[in-house]
Amino acid sequence: MTLLAQETGAINLAQGFPDYDPPQPLLQALARHALTPGHHQYAPMPGLPRLREAIAAQVARLHADAPAPDPATEITLTAGATEALYGVLAAVVRPGDEVLVFEPAYDLYGPAIRLQGGVPRYVRLPAPHFRPDWDAVRRVLTSRTRLVIVNTPHNPSGAVFTADDWHELARLLDGTDALVLSDEVYEHLVFDGAPRMSARQHPALRERSFVLSSFGKTYHATGWKVGYCVAPPALTAELRRVHQFLTFAVSTPTQHALADALEQDPDDAHARGLAAFYQAKRDEFRQLLDGAGYELLPVPGGYFQLARYDSISPATDLEFAQFLAREKGVAVVPVSAFYHDGFDEGLVRFCFAKESATLQAAAARLRG
Ligand code: PMP
Ligand code: GLN
Repeated sequence: MTLLAQETGAINLAQGFPDYDPPQPLLQALARHALTPGHHQYAPMPGLPRLREAIAAQVARLHADAPAPDPATEITLTAGATEALYGVLAAVVRPGDEVLVFEPAYDLYGPAIRLQGGVPRYVRLPAPHFRPDWDAVRRVLTSRTRLVIVNTPHNPSGAVFTADDWHELARLLDGTDALVLSDEVYEHLVFDGAPRMSARQHPALRERSFVLSSFGKTYHATGWKVGYCVAPPALTAELRRVHQFLTFAVSTPTQHALADALEQDPDDAHARGLAAFYQAKRDEFRQLLDGAGYELLPVPGGYFQLARYDSISPATDLEFAQFLAREKGVAVVPVSAFYHDGFDEGLVRFCFAKESATLQAAAARLRG
């Protein structure tokens, strides 16, 4: 869709990335470190110690009810959350292992599971709330279930796990060997005052979970490709065995810049401010589309808006996305792209991580 946007000149609300830059102090820190002699060779395999320490301190502040992670044995820097996802799957999935995946799902999960010889077992999240049906989950779990992938806040729907969801997951996994891969790259984007909660904050899940975050999302820097995984020592050791040979280490000056940003923000003002920042964008975009014929689904988190268009067109979601790019000049993602079997319920995804001017221009085109 990004290619189609480029070909057609459409405003790209398809791919998830902001059209604004990271905060100035972070850019200045990167420039400073880029000009610092001695910051240009390999970083240590698990990540710069000062960055791991800064991450551990922030995670401890934000998850005050959980024990602080040990930066030496529980935190690993990766080339985006993408590398962490692949690394965890390569570390734990063996041929024939089953991995539970909620759909719609981020596009990497299914193919990366299959590349390990694993078998994705899909559980559909029902619109409009995309909340798990835990009875359905129970029916799909077997003695071969090696891993459950959770993504909260969820791409593409924005659904957020509640304390009850975490509790149900913990209950279902109790007494099994299954692990959890908790993709929390949108962790700070939880709206309307709802509590944000990580797998790390549930004691029974913490010991079996790989928890992922992405500085790409947190600092509006998707092109920097820096993410990290927090996991208990035994799980971290397995991930690092793969990371050692996958990328080995993450860009050194970038890690220094991120360490500066975290060290200089001991109250986590940036991270804590993201919810209000993106909630305002969500609300602005929804208001701009009000009365334009779309049914806007609820967005409790993340930076995507799902919309039903059946009162505008009977087309498939792919046809409708192509029509929007070519005829209206706005690129979106058809939600069928997030299902292994192309399930199409007439929804498209808009990314609202955009400047007001971009959202306004896109809305004017969609209304035109
Ligand atoms: N998981 C989800 C749910 C995402 O939306 C993304 C961003 N595309 C990623 C993982 C990958 O994150 P990163 O850009 O840090 O590799
Ligand atoms: N997370 C982003 C999305 O869902 C994009 C990442 C990608 O293009 N692979 O749109």
